[in-house]
Amino acid sequence: MNLLDKLFSREIERRTGAHAISIYIEENREKRKRSRSIGASAIEASRETKITTRKSDTSFIRRIDLRFPWLKLAVVAVLGIIVILDLLNLTISSTGERRALAKIAPMSKHIKATERVIEGKKLVALTFDDGPSPLTTPKLLDVLKQKHVPATFFVLGNRALDNPDVVKRALDEGHEIASHTMRHQNLIRISAEAAKNDINEAKSAIKSIIGKTPAYTRPPYGNFDSNIIKSAGTPIILWSVDTEDWRSKNVDSIISTALDEVHDGAIILMHDIYPTSVEAVPKLIDAIREKGYEFASFSEISKIRGTKIKEGIIYYNFRP
Ligand SMILES: [Zn+2]
Repeated sequence: MNLLDKLFSREIERRTGAHAISIYIEENREKRKRSRSIGASAIEASRETKITTRKSDTSFIRRIDLRFPWLKLAVVAVLGIIVILDLLNLTISSTGERRALAKIAPMSKHIKATERVIEGKKLVALTFDDGPSPLTTPKLLDVLKQKHVPATFFVLGNRALDNPDVVKRALDEGHEIASHTMRHQNLIRISAEAAKNDINEAKSAIKSIIGKTPAYTRPPYGNFDSNIIKSAGTPIILWSVDTEDWRSKNVDSIISTALDEVHDGAIILMHDIYPTSVEAVPKLIDAIREKGYEFASFSEISKIRGTKIKEGIIYYNFRP
């Protein structure tokens, strides 16, 4: 009983008697009990709130984790499958590449006539001037290898010296290496002696790379005179189909020009130093083959046609 109660009880005692006092005291006791009880439940409630709050504070993933313990395993499994599929895909593509390489690899070092059927076919010879280029010629060699097509490269002596590996590769892959002189001079515009020197320089330069004197000469611009024929000391091979690839630098134009002019025994002139020319070659090969022609080297054509290619003679084509 606190002081207030005592004072109250005395006052009430004075007024109403002992019974009223006991009722009052009893009532207050109940009130205090209730308030204590309310306080306790309030504390209890607040504790619960704290727990709930703590629960709601836990991260979304934690809650997911708690509710679906198997989910983490499922996610890991799915990611694992994705990684495995990705790896498989990589494996498939690299196998594909290996297969593509394998297709090319077993090919003979030298392109043989047996890989093309040239007997009884209309034949054409593909020739490339002004190279080699370290950029475009290797790409062309890739195409020729893939298509099993032999070609003759009329190289410039100075460019051959700058890119001996490209020249060697062309030779190793079955192509013929011929001379287009040393510096691409217009030989009929310089002295006979200067022309002879240029031709001889080219011969030595090419021989230093391929181990033999080039068997054919093509003077720049197709210009020659009796002195030049004499100085060359080889057959002079010109052309009958000029694709004008150096002028148009256009794939479609190169192909249509070649297809318009192609004939049995044609010598097709192109230049391996232009990307558009190299780009045109695979399509050109397919288009010419579709017209019933097959590609052959000079020596193959001369052998199959029974004609000897002679020194001092000018050849524009190998018509039967
Ligand atoms: Zn040229």
